[in-house]
Amino acid sequence: MYKSGFVAIIGRPNVGKSTLLNQILGQKISIISSTAQTTRNSIKGIYTSDLAQIIFIDTPGIHKPKNSLGEYMNKETATSLKDADLVLWLVDANEEFGSGDEYVLNILKEAKTEVIIAFNKIDLIKDKIKFEENKNKFVKDYQFGSILEISALNKDNIDTLINEIINQLSEGPKYYDEDQITDSIERFIVSELIREKIFYLTKDEVPHSIAVEIEEMRENEENTEIYACIICERDSQKKILIGKNGDMIKKIKQYSKKDIKRLLGCSIYLELFVKVDKDWRNNKVTLSRLGYKN
Ligand code: GDP
Ligand code: MG
Repeated sequence: MYKSGFVAIIGRPNVGKSTLLNQILGQKISIISSTAQTTRNSIKGIYTSDLAQIIFIDTPGIHKPKNSLGEYMNKETATSLKDADLVLWLVDANEEFGSGDEYVLNILKEAKTEVIIAFNKIDLIKDKIKFEENKNKFVKDYQFGSILEISALNKDNIDTLINEIINQLSEGPKYYDEDQITDSIERFIVSELIREKIFYLTKDEVPHSIAVEIEEMRENEENTEIYACIICERDSQKKILIGKNGDMIKKIKQYSKKDIKRLLGCSIYLELFVKVDKDWRNNKVTLSRLGYKN
């Protein structure tokens, strides 16, 4: 019997959702950063084996909305929970149970979707007894499908987690062909790779109020041509992004090209532009153009 299904990953920023996805899929598809809230979109990563196909939805964290983007994110999270066949709740094993977790538990109770809870970063635990007490606060009032302790970073118990997910899924088709990553996902990955380089190179001098839009991506015989636009909110940010004599944008381009080349496995021709759009986070048209559908 072949099994398949959609698994929504939820959890606070920085608990290790992207790291886990990347470990499971063995490919860099989800931006990793030590700064909170860099993953804004739902990314579908597809795990395929002879026994099952798991389609992962990397949802943004559940939190109080501050603007349209925040609202979008919460809506997206709520919807993916109901649509999902299974929820994977990732928790940092070193963080105390808090009101945010209670909030998540309430949403889970309403969604009625089966939930696996995984305590991540188990490698960092110093006091085992304290951890067991904390763990109990998470699990005492909810019937989880399974309770696991993992380290996404060290690949501890990841196989067990995959097996547990497959156990909980029902019979279903292979939704996607082997190795298939859709075009739009590919574009999104490329834009996230560029965003990651910007955060890395500007060392947080530009806030997270930037977006990268892939204007064009064309596959030729000898290379792939990519034209991308970096959208920021202020002229001062544009200045930083371009840098003295264009040094910064050159570096962003150079670092991005290297990673994109590795991802796509072909030569890359990359052009980057910088544009100021003061209110893009509150502009629903811009948001939907960038793929954040309402
Ligand atoms: P996300 O915001 O939930 O997607 O979290 P990330 O995957 O971006 O991870 C946030 C930080 O936690 C990164 O610096 C990761 O290297 C780190 N991290 C993730 N998983 C583990 C783990 O199992 N152990 C340790 N020690 N660090 C981890
Ligand atoms: Mg992430």
